[in-house]
Amino acid sequence: MGVFDKMARQGHEQLSFVHDAESGLKAIIGFHDTTLGSALGGCRMYDYPDEEQLIDDVLRLSRGMTAKSAVTGCNHGGGKAVIWGDPEHDKSEALLRAFGRFVEGLEGRFITGTDLGTEYEDFVVAGQETDWVVGLPEYAGGSGNTSVTTAYGVYHGMKAAVEHVWGSDSMKGKTVAVQGVGKVGSVLVGHLIDEGCSVIVTDIDEQLVEKMVDEHGVESVSPEEIYSVDCDVFSPCAMGGILNSETVEQLQCRVVAGAANNQLADEEIGWELHRRGILYAPDYIINAGGLLQVADEIKGFDRERVMRKTAGLYELLGECFARAQEADNPPFVAAEEMVQERIEKIAQVNRIYLP
Ligand code: NAD
Repeated sequence: MGVFDKMARQGHEQLSFVHDAESGLKAIIGFHDTTLGSALGGCRMYDYPDEEQLIDDVLRLSRGMTAKSAVTGCNHGGGKAVIWGDPEHDKSEALLRAFGRFVEGLEGRFITGTDLGTEYEDFVVAGQETDWVVGLPEYAGGSGNTSVTTAYGVYHGMKAAVEHVWGSDSMKGKTVAVQGVGKVGSVLVGHLIDEGCSVIVTDIDEQLVEKMVDEHGVESVSPEEIYSVDCDVFSPCAMGGILNSETVEQLQCRVVAGAANNQLADEEIGWELHRRGILYAPDYIINAGGLLQVADEIKGFDRERVMRKTAGLYELLGECFARAQEADNPPFVAAEEMVQERIEKIAQVNRIYLP
Protein backbone atom coordinates (compact mmCIF):
# COMPACT_ATOMS: atom_id res chain seq x y z
CA MET A 1 0.00 0.00 0.00
CA GLY A 2 1.29 3.48 -0.87
CA VAL A 3 1.98 6.14 1.75
CA PHE A 4 -1.02 8.29 0.79
CA ASP A 5 -3.32 5.28 0.97
CA LYS A 6 -2.02 4.49 4.45
CA MET A 7 -2.55 8.10 5.53
CA ALA A 8 -6.07 8.16 4.12
CA ARG A 9 -6.96 4.88 5.76
CA GLN A 10 -5.95 6.03 9.26
CA GLY A 11 -6.92 9.70 8.86
CA HIS A 12 -3.48 11.33 8.87
CA GLU A 13 -2.98 14.93 7.83
CA GLN A 14 0.71 15.27 7.17
CA LEU A 15 4.05 13.48 7.12
CA SER A 16 7.15 15.68 7.06
CA PHE A 17 10.28 13.90 5.86
CA VAL A 18 13.40 15.73 7.04
CA HIS A 19 17.01 15.12 6.04
CA ASP A 20 20.37 16.65 6.85
CA ALA A 21 23.32 15.09 5.02
CA GLU A 22 26.07 16.50 7.29
CA SER A 23 24.70 15.16 10.57
CA GLY A 24 23.09 12.09 8.99
CA LEU A 25 19.62 13.06 10.22
CA LYS A 26 16.78 11.16 8.59
CA ALA A 27 13.49 11.64 10.35
CA ILE A 28 9.76 11.80 9.83
CA ILE A 29 7.41 14.03 11.77
CA GLY A 30 3.88 12.67 11.63
CA PHE A 31 0.67 14.59 12.18
CA HIS A 32 -2.50 12.61 12.66
CA ASP A 33 -5.44 14.86 13.60
CA THR A 34 -4.91 18.44 14.77
CA THR A 35 -8.56 19.40 15.34
CA LEU A 36 -7.84 19.99 19.02
CA GLY A 37 -4.58 21.91 18.68
CA SER A 38 -0.87 21.61 17.94
CA ALA A 39 0.37 18.06 17.54
CA LEU A 40 2.07 16.85 20.72
CA GLY A 41 4.10 13.67 20.91
CA GLY A 42 7.53 12.28 21.67
CA CYS A 43 10.46 11.70 19.39
CA ARG A 44 11.60 8.10 19.04
CA MET A 45 15.03 7.10 17.72
CA TYR A 46 15.34 3.57 16.43
CA ASP A 47 17.29 1.70 13.79
CA TYR A 48 14.30 0.49 11.75
CA PRO A 49 15.10 -2.36 9.32
CA ASP A 50 13.54 -0.44 6.41
CA GLU A 51 11.70 2.72 5.39
CA GLU A 52 8.30 1.05 5.43
CA GLN A 53 8.59 0.12 9.11
CA LEU A 54 9.71 3.66 9.91
CA ILE A 55 6.64 5.08 8.17
CA ASP A 56 4.28 2.53 9.73
CA ASP A 57 5.59 3.35 13.21
CA VAL A 58 5.19 7.11 12.86
CA LEU A 59 1.66 6.62 11.50
CA ARG A 60 0.70 4.27 14.36
CA LEU A 61 2.31 6.37 17.10
CA SER A 62 0.95 9.74 15.97
CA ARG A 63 -2.56 8.29 15.72
CA GLY A 64 -2.25 6.97 19.27
CA MET A 65 -1.37 10.47 20.47
CA THR A 66 -4.57 11.91 18.97
CA ALA A 67 -6.56 9.45 21.06
CA LYS A 68 -4.57 10.05 24.24
CA SER A 69 -4.86 13.85 24.07
CA ALA A 70 -8.51 13.86 23.05
CA VAL A 71 -9.80 11.48 25.69
CA THR A 72 -7.89 13.12 28.55
CA GLY A 73 -9.15 16.62 27.75
CA CYS A 74 -5.87 18.03 26.39
CA ASN A 75 -6.09 20.63 23.65
CA HIS A 76 -3.58 18.91 21.42
CA GLY A 77 -3.61 16.88 18.28
CA GLY A 78 -1.69 13.69 17.66
CA GLY A 79 1.92 13.86 16.51
CA LYS A 80 5.10 11.87 16.79
CA ALA A 81 8.60 12.03 15.35
CA VAL A 82 10.81 9.11 14.47
CA ILE A 83 14.53 9.51 13.85
CA TRP A 84 15.99 6.67 11.78
CA GLY A 85 19.22 5.55 13.41
CA ASP A 86 20.89 3.70 16.24
CA PRO A 87 20.73 5.90 19.36
CA GLU A 88 24.02 4.39 20.62
CA HIS A 89 26.07 5.21 17.52
CA ASP A 90 24.24 7.74 15.37
CA LYS A 91 23.13 10.35 17.91
CA SER A 92 25.20 13.56 17.99
CA GLU A 93 24.84 17.22 18.94
CA ALA A 94 24.65 18.15 15.25
CA LEU A 95 21.91 15.59 14.54
CA LEU A 96 19.81 16.70 17.51
CA ARG A 97 20.24 20.39 16.66
CA ALA A 98 19.39 19.76 13.01
CA PHE A 99 16.23 17.98 14.21
CA GLY A 100 15.51 20.95 16.50
CA ARG A 101 15.76 23.37 13.58
CA PHE A 102 13.22 21.39 11.57
CA VAL A 103 10.88 21.36 14.56
CA GLU A 104 11.34 25.14 14.94
CA GLY A 105 10.44 25.56 11.27
CA LEU A 106 7.02 24.08 12.04
CA GLU A 107 6.38 27.13 14.26
CA GLY A 108 4.61 25.26 17.05
CA ARG A 109 2.47 22.99 14.89
CA PHE A 110 4.48 20.14 16.45
CA ILE A 111 5.75 19.92 20.05
CA THR A 112 7.99 17.08 21.09
CA GLY A 113 10.08 15.46 23.82
CA THR A 114 11.60 12.16 24.86
CA ASP A 115 10.48 8.67 23.81
CA LEU A 116 12.22 5.33 23.26
CA GLY A 117 15.85 5.88 22.21
CA THR A 118 15.95 9.54 23.24
CA GLU A 119 16.82 11.04 26.63
CA TYR A 120 15.62 14.18 28.41
CA GLU A 121 19.06 15.72 27.88
CA ASP A 122 18.73 15.26 24.09
CA PHE A 123 15.99 17.87 24.12
CA VAL A 124 18.13 20.31 26.05
CA VAL A 125 20.47 20.00 23.04
CA ALA A 126 17.68 20.19 20.44
CA GLY A 127 16.16 23.00 22.52
CA GLN A 128 19.07 25.25 21.54
CA GLU A 129 17.36 25.46 18.15
CA THR A 130 13.69 25.37 19.07
CA ASP A 131 11.27 26.43 21.80
CA TRP A 132 8.90 23.60 20.88
CA VAL A 133 10.29 20.92 23.22
CA VAL A 134 8.81 19.70 26.52
CA GLY A 135 9.57 17.17 29.24
CA LEU A 136 12.91 18.86 29.85
CA PRO A 137 14.89 18.16 33.03
CA GLU A 138 14.21 20.48 35.97
CA TYR A 139 17.68 22.09 35.70
CA ALA A 140 16.71 23.19 32.16
CA GLY A 141 13.42 24.70 33.28
CA GLY A 142 11.26 21.66 32.51
CA SER A 143 8.98 19.50 34.63
CA GLY A 144 11.44 16.59 34.90
CA ASN A 145 10.91 12.87 34.66
CA THR A 146 7.34 11.86 33.76
CA SER A 147 7.44 8.34 35.15
CA VAL A 148 6.41 9.30 38.70
CA THR A 149 3.27 11.00 37.33
CA THR A 150 2.59 8.10 34.97
CA ALA A 151 2.82 5.60 37.83
CA TYR A 152 0.47 7.74 39.93
CA GLY A 153 -2.07 7.67 37.09
CA VAL A 154 -1.73 3.91 36.63
CA TYR A 155 -2.32 3.42 40.34
CA HIS A 156 -5.53 5.51 40.27
CA GLY A 157 -6.67 3.87 37.04
CA MET A 158 -6.13 0.44 38.56
CA LYS A 159 -8.28 1.44 41.52
CA ALA A 160 -11.05 2.48 39.11
CA ALA A 161 -10.89 -0.96 37.47
CA VAL A 162 -10.92 -2.71 40.87
CA GLU A 163 -13.96 -0.64 41.85
CA HIS A 164 -15.76 -1.64 38.67
CA VAL A 165 -15.11 -5.35 39.17
CA TRP A 166 -15.37 -5.76 42.96
CA GLY A 167 -17.56 -2.77 43.94
CA SER A 168 -14.89 -1.20 46.17
CA ASP A 169 -11.71 0.53 45.09
CA SER A 170 -9.73 -0.70 48.06
CA MET A 171 -6.65 -2.55 46.87
CA LYS A 172 -6.00 -4.02 50.33
CA GLY A 173 -5.51 -7.76 50.07
CA LYS A 174 -5.51 -7.76 46.26
CA THR A 175 -2.68 -9.53 44.44
CA VAL A 176 -1.09 -7.57 41.61
CA ALA A 177 1.41 -9.03 39.11
CA VAL A 178 3.69 -6.30 37.71
CA GLN A 179 5.55 -7.00 34.47
CA GLY A 180 8.55 -4.66 34.28
CA VAL A 181 9.87 -2.72 37.27
CA GLY A 182 11.69 0.06 35.45
CA LYS A 183 10.97 3.75 35.93
CA VAL A 184 7.15 3.43 36.06
CA GLY A 185 6.73 -0.12 37.40
CA SER A 186 9.02 0.43 40.41
CA VAL A 187 7.08 3.53 41.55
CA LEU A 188 3.77 1.73 41.02
CA VAL A 189 4.95 -1.14 43.24
CA GLY A 190 5.55 1.40 46.04
CA HIS A 191 1.95 2.70 45.80
CA LEU A 192 0.57 -0.86 45.82
CA ILE A 193 2.61 -1.92 48.83
CA ASP A 194 1.53 1.22 50.71
CA GLU A 195 -2.09 0.21 50.16
CA GLY A 196 -1.60 -3.33 51.46
CA CYS A 197 -1.45 -5.30 48.19
CA SER A 198 0.48 -8.51 47.66
CA VAL A 199 2.77 -7.82 44.72
CA ILE A 200 4.49 -10.27 42.37
CA VAL A 201 7.11 -8.76 40.06
CA THR A 202 9.18 -9.75 37.08
CA ASP A 203 11.77 -8.07 34.86
CA ILE A 204 14.42 -9.24 32.42
CA ASP A 205 16.82 -7.11 34.46
CA GLU A 206 17.51 -9.23 37.55
CA GLN A 207 19.06 -6.35 39.48
CA LEU A 208 15.82 -4.38 39.28
CA VAL A 209 13.90 -7.41 40.57
CA GLU A 210 16.33 -7.84 43.48
CA LYS A 211 15.92 -4.17 44.36
CA MET A 212 12.13 -4.59 44.58
CA VAL A 213 12.47 -7.75 46.68
CA ASP A 214 14.91 -6.01 49.06
CA GLU A 215 12.94 -2.76 49.31
CA HIS A 216 9.41 -4.13 49.57
CA GLY A 217 9.69 -7.86 50.28
CA VAL A 218 7.68 -8.66 47.12
CA GLU A 219 7.58 -12.08 45.48
CA SER A 220 9.26 -12.52 42.09
CA VAL A 221 8.80 -14.90 39.15
CA SER A 222 10.54 -15.37 35.81
CA PRO A 223 9.44 -13.23 32.82
CA GLU A 224 7.76 -16.30 31.26
CA GLU A 225 5.76 -17.13 34.41
CA ILE A 226 4.20 -13.70 34.97
CA TYR A 227 1.22 -14.28 32.65
CA SER A 228 -0.04 -17.35 34.45
CA VAL A 229 0.43 -16.33 38.09
CA ASP A 230 -2.68 -16.44 40.23
CA CYS A 231 -3.53 -12.76 40.76
CA ASP A 232 -6.38 -10.23 40.75
CA VAL A 233 -4.68 -7.65 38.54
CA PHE A 234 -2.05 -8.06 35.83
CA SER A 235 -0.10 -4.85 35.26
CA PRO A 236 1.96 -4.68 32.06
CA CYS A 237 4.66 -2.03 32.59
CA ALA A 238 7.32 -3.27 30.15
CA MET A 239 6.68 -3.26 26.40
CA GLY A 240 3.81 -3.12 23.89
CA GLY A 241 1.99 -5.94 22.10
CA ILE A 242 2.12 -8.24 25.10
CA LEU A 243 -1.60 -9.03 25.10
CA ASN A 244 -1.75 -11.54 22.24
CA SER A 245 -3.35 -14.91 21.55
CA GLU A 246 -0.50 -16.75 23.28
CA THR A 247 -0.45 -14.69 26.50
CA VAL A 248 -4.15 -13.94 26.98
CA GLU A 249 -5.09 -17.59 27.33
CA GLN A 250 -2.64 -17.89 30.24
CA LEU A 251 -4.06 -14.97 32.26
CA GLN A 252 -5.66 -15.82 35.62
CA CYS A 253 -6.59 -12.23 36.56
CA ARG A 254 -9.89 -10.26 36.44
CA VAL A 255 -8.23 -6.94 35.53
CA VAL A 256 -5.42 -5.82 33.20
CA ALA A 257 -4.20 -2.34 34.12
CA GLY A 258 -0.69 -1.14 33.35
CA ALA A 259 1.54 1.54 31.87
CA ALA A 260 2.82 -0.05 28.66
CA ASN A 261 1.79 1.56 25.36
CA ASN A 262 -0.10 -0.44 22.70
CA GLN A 263 -0.72 -3.45 24.93
CA LEU A 264 -3.30 -5.09 22.65
CA ALA A 265 -1.63 -6.89 19.74
CA ASP A 266 -4.84 -6.23 17.79
CA GLU A 267 -8.49 -5.39 18.37
CA GLU A 268 -9.58 -9.02 18.38
CA ILE A 269 -7.51 -9.49 21.57
CA GLY A 270 -9.57 -6.72 23.19
CA TRP A 271 -12.71 -8.68 22.34
CA GLU A 272 -11.15 -11.93 23.59
CA LEU A 273 -10.39 -10.34 26.99
CA HIS A 274 -14.01 -9.13 27.11
CA ARG A 275 -15.32 -12.65 26.33
CA ARG A 276 -13.11 -14.07 29.08
CA GLY A 277 -14.50 -11.57 31.61
CA ILE A 278 -11.19 -9.75 32.05
CA LEU A 279 -11.55 -5.96 32.37
CA TYR A 280 -8.88 -4.20 30.30
CA ALA A 281 -8.07 -0.56 31.16
CA PRO A 282 -7.29 1.12 27.80
CA ASP A 283 -3.58 1.91 27.84
CA TYR A 284 -3.79 5.41 26.43
CA ILE A 285 -6.09 6.49 29.25
CA ILE A 286 -4.45 4.79 32.21
CA ASN A 287 -0.90 5.80 31.21
CA ALA A 288 -1.74 9.43 30.32
CA GLY A 289 -0.12 10.97 33.44
CA GLY A 290 3.08 11.73 31.51
CA LEU A 291 1.13 13.46 28.74
CA LEU A 292 -0.81 15.53 31.29
CA GLN A 293 2.52 16.59 32.78
CA VAL A 294 4.20 17.70 29.54
CA ALA A 295 1.01 19.36 28.25
CA ASP A 296 0.93 21.39 31.47
CA GLU A 297 4.57 22.40 30.94
CA ILE A 298 3.62 24.25 27.74
CA LYS A 299 1.50 26.74 29.67
CA GLY A 300 3.59 26.98 32.85
CA PHE A 301 4.07 23.92 34.97
CA ASP A 302 2.24 23.37 38.26
CA ARG A 303 2.92 19.97 39.84
CA GLU A 304 -0.08 20.03 42.15
CA ARG A 305 -2.45 20.73 39.25
CA VAL A 306 -0.89 17.90 37.24
CA MET A 307 -1.19 15.40 40.09
CA ARG A 308 -4.84 16.40 40.58
CA LYS A 309 -5.58 15.93 36.87
CA THR A 310 -3.70 12.63 36.88
CA ALA A 311 -5.71 11.33 39.84
CA GLY A 312 -8.77 12.25 37.72
CA LEU A 313 -7.95 9.36 35.38
CA TYR A 314 -9.88 7.35 37.99
CA GLU A 315 -13.16 9.07 37.02
CA LEU A 316 -12.34 8.98 33.31
CA LEU A 317 -11.75 5.25 33.39
CA GLY A 318 -14.87 4.77 35.53
CA GLU A 319 -16.86 6.52 32.78
CA CYS A 320 -15.23 4.36 30.13
CA PHE A 321 -15.99 1.10 32.00
CA ALA A 322 -19.61 2.12 32.69
CA ARG A 323 -20.18 3.04 29.07
CA ALA A 324 -18.62 -0.22 27.87
CA GLN A 325 -20.76 -2.24 30.28
CA GLU A 326 -23.96 -0.55 29.18
CA ALA A 327 -23.34 -1.44 25.54
CA ASP A 328 -21.75 -4.82 26.35
CA ASN A 329 -18.61 -3.66 24.59
CA PRO A 330 -14.96 -4.01 25.61
CA PRO A 331 -13.58 -0.81 27.20
CA PHE A 332 -11.26 -0.18 24.24
CA VAL A 333 -14.35 0.34 22.04
CA ALA A 334 -15.88 2.75 24.58
CA ALA A 335 -12.58 4.65 24.75
CA GLU A 336 -12.52 5.09 20.95
CA GLU A 337 -16.06 6.44 21.05
CA MET A 338 -15.05 8.94 23.73
CA VAL A 339 -12.12 10.08 21.57
CA GLN A 340 -14.30 10.64 18.49
CA GLU A 341 -17.02 12.41 20.45
CA ARG A 342 -14.64 14.97 21.94
CA ILE A 343 -12.96 15.67 18.59
CA GLU A 344 -16.32 16.15 16.88
CA LYS A 345 -17.74 18.37 19.65
CA ILE A 346 -14.69 20.65 19.69
CA ALA A 347 -14.62 20.77 15.89
CA GLN A 348 -18.11 22.27 16.13
CA VAL A 349 -16.89 24.91 18.60
CA ASN A 350 -14.05 25.81 16.24
CA ARG A 351 -16.60 26.73 13.60
CA ILE A 352 -17.39 29.93 15.53
CA TYR A 353 -15.54 32.69 13.72
CA LEU A 354 -13.10 34.77 15.79
CA PRO A 355 -12.04 38.09 14.25
P1 NAD B 1 11.65 1.42 31.49
O1 NAD B 1 12.48 1.09 30.30
O2 NAD B 1 12.26 2.23 32.60
O3 NAD B 1 11.07 0.08 32.15
C1 NAD B 1 10.64 -1.02 31.41
C2 NAD B 1 11.14 -2.26 32.12
O4 NAD B 1 10.62 -3.41 31.47
C3 NAD B 1 12.66 -2.38 32.11
O5 NAD B 1 13.13 -2.52 33.42
C4 NAD B 1 12.90 -3.64 31.26
O6 NAD B 1 14.03 -4.38 31.70
C5 NAD B 1 11.63 -4.41 31.48
N1 NAD B 1 11.32 -5.39 30.43
C6 NAD B 1 11.53 -5.30 29.10
N2 NAD B 1 11.13 -6.43 28.50
C7 NAD B 1 10.64 -7.24 29.45
C8 NAD B 1 10.07 -8.54 29.46
N3 NAD B 1 9.94 -9.27 28.34
N4 NAD B 1 9.65 -9.07 30.63
C9 NAD B 1 9.79 -8.37 31.78
N5 NAD B 1 10.35 -7.13 31.84
C10 NAD B 1 10.76 -6.59 30.70
O7 NAD B 1 10.34 2.14 30.91
P2 NAD B 1 9.25 2.96 31.72
O8 NAD B 1 9.50 4.41 31.55
O9 NAD B 1 9.12 2.37 33.10
O10 NAD B 1 7.95 2.63 30.87
C11 NAD B 1 7.30 1.38 30.97
C12 NAD B 1 6.23 1.28 29.90
O11 NAD B 1 5.29 2.33 30.08
C13 NAD B 1 6.75 1.43 28.46
O12 NAD B 1 5.98 0.61 27.62
C14 NAD B 1 6.48 2.91 28.14
O13 NAD B 1 6.32 3.11 26.76
C15 NAD B 1 5.18 3.12 28.88
N6 NAD B 1 4.95 4.52 29.26
C16 NAD B 1 5.85 5.19 30.01
C17 NAD B 1 5.61 6.51 30.35
C18 NAD B 1 6.59 7.29 31.19
O14 NAD B 1 6.24 8.41 31.60
N7 NAD B 1 7.76 6.77 31.50
C19 NAD B 1 4.44 7.15 29.93
C20 NAD B 1 3.51 6.41 29.19
C21 NAD B 1 3.78 5.10 28.86
